[in-house]
Amino acid sequence: MSGWRRGDTDTLARRHETSVSRGPERRIAALVLAALTFVAGLIGTAHLFVDGTLHQGATRISYAVAMAACLVAAAALAVRPRAGRWQTSGLVMLAEVVYVIVVLSVSVPAQATPLMLLFPSFVAAWFLGTWMLGATMLATVVACTIALTHTYDGALSIAVQVTISAGALNSAAFGVYVLRRRVQRLLEATQALSHQDPLTGLANRRLLVEQAPRVWRQARREGSRVAAMVLDLDRFKQLNDAHGHAAGDAVLRTVASSLAATVRPSDVLARTGGEELIVLGLVSDPAEAHRLAERLRAAVRTSRTDDGHSVTASIGIALARPVDGEDAADAMWRLVDRADGAMYEAKQAGRDRVAAALPRQRSGAFADSLRPARRAAG
Ligand code: GH3
Ligand code: MG
Ligand code: MG
Repeated sequence: MSGWRRGDTDTLARRHETSVSRGPERRIAALVLAALTFVAGLIGTAHLFVDGTLHQGATRISYAVAMAACLVAAAALAVRPRAGRWQTSGLVMLAEVVYVIVVLSVSVPAQATPLMLLFPSFVAAWFLGTWMLGATMLATVVACTIALTHTYDGALSIAVQVTISAGALNSAAFGVYVLRRRVQRLLEATQALSHQDPLTGLANRRLLVEQAPRVWRQARREGSRVAAMVLDLDRFKQLNDAHGHAAGDAVLRTVASSLAATVRPSDVLARTGGEELIVLGLVSDPAEAHRLAERLRAAVRTSRTDDGHSVTASIGIALARPVDGEDAADAMWRLVDRADGAMYEAKQAGRDRVAAALPRQRSGAFADSLRPARRAAG
């Protein structure tokens, strides 16, 4: 599990998004391939029934087998529309083989143009990784060489035709590959930004919500409790009024980086409002939650901007055990509401302190366990 801190938010958000977006991409790859192989198989099969189009004998049988393979592959993809890199690369290779078989089977080989490989090349360029794309590019050169050797006479003429056809196909594929890399990078950057608070670089509210299911799953797996801590900076308006908004912003940034350095790697630290931050993490008991909250309070109190401004924070804690079947995001907001209530208690008790919400169902064990610590903090 990874924490969300200033500085590594980009990488982590990217990792998160990549895992999110791979599913739909595989489905799209599969549906595109299903449609292409189906159309190719259908047109090819139709030629079996047009007199004079194909040679008779063994090549006709291999042609029929190739078309059947296209239709079977299309049907398999339509039934289970998921194509990983290996399946995609297998289907592109099938297209290369089918092209060669078609050239060898048709009565006038020149009618089977290398342009048949254009769509498979684009599919390879869009969906495959670098080395798999390299392998399909090589296969394109081999397929064009076999096909054009059958079509043209003379080594020079064949070499020129192979260079033109395979060169054009592979250049087009390379162009699509470069375009795809650019689109992917832009998308990743946009997704990372959409998860990040621009002022502090911390996770934002959206990422906090997206992380809730992971935190809840882990708590269930480990049998631990989820702790939510709501931190609200004390008298922040006064600081803004006295020293200006820019000084307030600098304080927010400084506080954010000292909190990021204080939370555990597994905690989620997010800025959810103006001067309000939330920490979501797993704890084994209330005492552990309290120790962490006290460390956070000290981190805020001791952080200071270059201009010497500093601030304190009031912190509310609430704990929950995950319940089977509950929605993690809903459960998280219920927990945060309770922590928020505790944070207001901390404000009323004089600020710069930690307060805990009473347990939701069971009686006062949690509050009791925290009471001595709260007195110490106050
Ligand atoms: P309390 O101790 O009761 O929390 O008092 P407070 O002044 O912190 O609370 P209040 O809600 O009255 O004011 C919050 C202030 O936070 C008001 C707003 O100007 C300031 N604030 C919110 N977002 C930002 C921001 O991004 N930058 C700066 N500089 N100030 C902000
Ligand atoms: Mg506030
Ligand atoms: Mg405040």
